[in-house]
Amino acid sequence: MATSTVENYLKAILHLAEDEAATISVGSIAKNLTVTPGTVSAMMKHLSDEKLVDYVPRRSVALTAKGKRQALQVVRRHRLIETFLVQVMGLDWAEVHEEAEVLEHVVSGRLLARMDEMLGYPRYDPHGDPIPNENGEYADPGDLQPLAEVTSGRFRLLRVDDSDSDLLDWLQSHQLLPGREYEIISRDSIAGVMEILVPKNRSHIQIGEKAASRILVEPVL
Ligand SMILES: [Zn+2]
Repeated sequence: MATSTVENYLKAILHLAEDEAATISVGSIAKNLTVTPGTVSAMMKHLSDEKLVDYVPRRSVALTAKGKRQALQVVRRHRLIETFLVQVMGLDWAEVHEEAEVLEHVVSGRLLARMDEMLGYPRYDPHGDPIPNENGEYADPGDLQPLAEVTSGRFRLLRVDDSDSDLLDWLQSHQLLPGREYEIISRDSIAGVMEILVPKNRSHIQIGEKAASRILVEPVL
């Protein structure tokens, strides 16, 4: 059984690989986990000995197949726990990430399987993130793009950054939720602000580029 520290490193490398789709450095991992590069280097040597990463000192880090399998299981636990906390326990979607960060390292396989069953084997968590199955397979998120890059028209909101509870609170208070459709009314690219229409209550919302960059959508034609 991997320690929670090892699991957090594997998860961080997996997420960095998704974001950058390129080589991952000790520096980028250090920044992601807010630890020193020296700490990361020592851990990479350990993970390399465990055959969890391919590590070339001062050059690159990549998960091995074994490392990726383990990382995906941590992600599976995290997202299933979040879904369970929201759907079954009634917690707010803005407060479950921190709980899941802790519980993902301690929940047993048996308990997790039961949660999965009670939830009806969900494919997405409340933030729109796909939940890997026991084999590490997950739904193809498709052609998502940050709202900040959409210039006009209607769009369906599908996925939001789960780690910023202030952003999640703000989204919820404005009825900006995964699975729903909205429309861009106007866009001021110099000011970095767009105005969108929430069809449900006909309200208009101003949204800045920073928030819009953390909301993934698909255009509705
Ligand atoms: Zn989360």
